[in-house]
Parts: sequence; structure tokens; C-alpha cells
Amino acid sequence: MKVFLHACCGPCMTSFDKYFKERNIPYSVYFYNPNIHPYKEFVKRMKTLDEYAESIGIEVIHDMSFQQYKWEHEYAELTANERCKNCYEQRINKTAEAAKQNGFTHFTSTLLISPYQNHEMINEIGISAGRRNDVAFYYKDFREYFRGGQNIAREKGLYRQKYCGCIYSYNESKFRDKISWD
Ligand code: SF4
Repeated sequence: MKVFLHACCGPCMTSFDKYFKERNIPYSVYFYNPNIHPYKEFVKRMKTLDEYAESIGIEVIHDMSFQQYKWEHEYAELTANERCKNCYEQRINKTAEAAKQNGFTHFTSTLLISPYQNHEMINEIGISAGRRNDVAFYYKDFREYFRGGQNIAREKGLYRQKYCGCIYSYNESKFRDKISWD
């Protein structure tokens, strides 16, 4: 088994690293998150992820797609639920394709750890992406590890984002005044 882990940030990756290493499951990380805006936030999350992955000896493969125009204009008329479905599909489908191309047996996503995401929807999308690309979706309900991962991130001083990622979630964030991109 060799797992391709889609990850959108360092903090959520910490628990996956612990989980995989405890089970001797080799894995690499895939950064593909064109939904994250603005660009300063995109870079900050990626750098946090890269620095953390380097410190624990994990390879990261990047796709630097950044689609703020598309997200602001093409998705403006969608409901929040439709937009999230699009967002999951885009990232999970691409992860499954890249997993297959790069010789991984399984793929999964740090999205499965978040209590703020639509867990069932992510699972359904993962299963069908796996079937289409002939690579297994590694499913587990990782939400029980969320707080533990946040604690590790706090101990290590990793940047912890204040909103989900897209420009809509940024605009709705109650913590915008706490965001610093320096
Ligand atoms: S709220 Fe999060 S999951 Fe939903 S579209 Fe925005 S970034 Fe994607």
C-alpha cells in the first residue's frame, strides 16, 4: 500500500502523519487547492505545509493552480452546498488521477478530518473518483483526530487558518481581523 494524501494545510496533515506512521503506511502529499484565496493565503498555507512536511521527511507534490477569477465569477450564482460539492469534486478527482499517474495504490484527503466539512459528500465523491481512476479511496472517519491535530499544530507553531479557503468563506469569516499574511 502507498497512499497519496491530498492536503490543504499543515495542521490537518499532522494527524495523518501520526496515523500513517503508527501503521507503517508509506505516503506522499499532494497540494492541489485552487479554491484557496486570496493568493497570500494560498502561499501561506502551502509554505506551512511544505515546511512541516520537510521537517518530518515527507515528499510533497504540488499543482500550483490558482483560480480566483473562476471562483469569483463562475461560481457566484451557486448555493453554498453546490459550491462545496464542486470544490470537493475538483480536488478529489484530480487527486485520484494524479495518484494513478504516480503509481499510488490508494488516495485520500485531509478533508476527511474536518468536522466543518460535509463528510458524507466527500466520501461519496472519493469512492466514485476511485472507481473511475482504478485507484482505491482510503476512507476512514478521521474526525476523531481533529482536536489532536490542532494541538500538535499549536505546539509546533504552525499557521492555523481562520476560514475554509474560498473567497466566500473568507468574506463570511468571523475572524477576518485576526488574519495576518506577514
Ligand atoms: S467553503 Fe470550503 S469547501 Fe466550500 S467551496 Fe469554499 S473552500 Fe470549498
